[in-house]
Amino acid sequence: MKYYDKLIFDLSKAGRQGYSLPVNRWEQSVSGLPAGLQRAEAPALPEVSELDVVRHYTNLSQMNFGVDSGFYPLGSCTMKYNPKINEEIAAMPAFAGLHPLQPASTVQGALRLYKDLAHALSAITGMAEFTLDPFAGAHGELTGLMVIRQYHMSRGDVKRTRIIVPDSAHGTNPASAAVCGLEIVQVKSNAMGLVDVEDLKPLLDDTIAGIMMTNPNTLGLFEKDIKEIAALVHECGGLLYYDGANMNPLMGVVRPGDMGFDVLHLNLHKTFSTPHGGGGPGAGPVGVAAHLVSHLPVPKVMEAEDGTLYVADGTCRCESSLEGSGAFGPACGCAPECKCGCQACGQISGFMGNFGVLLRAYTYILMLGKQNIKMVGPLAVLGANYIKESLKDCFKLPIPTVCKHEFVFDGLLDQSTGVTTLDIAKRLLDYGFHAPTIYFPLLFHQSIMIEPTETESKETLDGFIEIMKHIAAEAIADPDSLKTAPHTTPVRRLDETTAARQPVLRYKDMLQ
Ligand SMILES: *Cc1c(COP(=O)(O)O)cnc(C)c1O
Repeated sequence: MKYYDKLIFDLSKAGRQGYSLPVNRWEQSVSGLPAGLQRAEAPALPEVSELDVVRHYTNLSQMNFGVDSGFYPLGSCTMKYNPKINEEIAAMPAFAGLHPLQPASTVQGALRLYKDLAHALSAITGMAEFTLDPFAGAHGELTGLMVIRQYHMSRGDVKRTRIIVPDSAHGTNPASAAVCGLEIVQVKSNAMGLVDVEDLKPLLDDTIAGIMMTNPNTLGLFEKDIKEIAALVHECGGLLYYDGANMNPLMGVVRPGDMGFDVLHLNLHKTFSTPHGGGGPGAGPVGVAAHLVSHLPVPKVMEAEDGTLYVADGTCRCESSLEGSGAFGPACGCAPECKCGCQACGQISGFMGNFGVLLRAYTYILMLGKQNIKMVGPLAVLGANYIKESLKDCFKLPIPTVCKHEFVFDGLLDQSTGVTTLDIAKRLLDYGFHAPTIYFPLLFHQSIMIEPTETESKETLDGFIEIMKHIAAEAIADPDSLKTAPHTTPVRRLDETTAARQPVLRYKDMLQ
């Protein structure tokens, strides 16, 4: 163990200080607290110098793996580089100092940015309008499904309580549908890994609210029958939901709106380069086609005729509504198309989303511009196919077609050594690469899902390919080196279930 792997509490020395609070301000703020909330005794914090604190956090940061420290080909998660200019813009006091309760007249710039970003996302996806309120992809899914439900209800079509989800779908799809109170109907994939249209047809009836699809799907394959699927689902009265977490290969090339999708969410913290991992913060904006705009959630940023922006909270402002009702939702008597916010599916976040994340995505889009944004997808697709073709003699490739931005191996080609996908993932850490996504999608037993993104150089891809080949050779020559990996990380193989269910978060608990 290195000296500074010690916990900071072990470095504590009574009376040592790293920082002194100004006495007057400190006393004032304490005296402002109600007596019941004031501590009688000082908390048992480590007493350390500023230098100790700096070393503690710097060393801690090096125990983790990030996209700033190495290649991170985590399929479905799009771990692209997060340009530092995004951080500079998000940290500008003019933005960082805003308060969510400020009157709209004092935050016109921020509201304009919200509108402009929504507009850019509409242009990229081919949707009519966006809400930027949801905090994550899954939160966007829930929002989008609420919009779909509200649409059917507003038309009195109350039987539509079932939603179709492909067996290859990301786990959040059925989970969000369940949270929204919808019953999940599974549609199978065919041998080519695409939604099986023949399996879909008999599922379509007047109880279907819609279908959730990812395209390219979670196997990294383009659903080429999407036009036919869209026509079938629309014919039965259902809507199409697009899980746009995989928008990266399509930006500026293909628009989900043109494929026939009615509702979608994007993951700004994947495609639009805002940092993620460790649970957030994220943003999962939801875009809708014209016939669903009135059902987007509140608060909504609206533009008055004179160009002033204001925030609609869902209170009916229509002349045509039941007089003075001030009601929320269809109760106010407005037509379903009313745009003042009263037909919204509800409110899904406290204010208007994770503004810092929105700023980063906005900066990213402007930095790329219309022309360069079209290069993202082709480069990401080229990189994924390059890795796939370079490694298919060592790893099992269950679907050997051209992939989009990601693809799936089903473990090693030679599985006689008993070396598993988990062993390969752990061994990669020893060589300085983060593991790809493993054991997802569930269609294969040894899934290794690789997504390089467009931000990596050919040299990095070559380095990864070389190490993957080396690991495949090690699996035969020295399988134990893989089964006991990782050997170089601060911690080895963890009990991830217990870590998630019973996390030890306090230093004192660690001592037990
Ligand atoms: C990441 C992802 C999601 C969920 O996004 P979160 O922000 O993690 O909630 C949904 N669908 C797909 C395909 C994804 O890759």
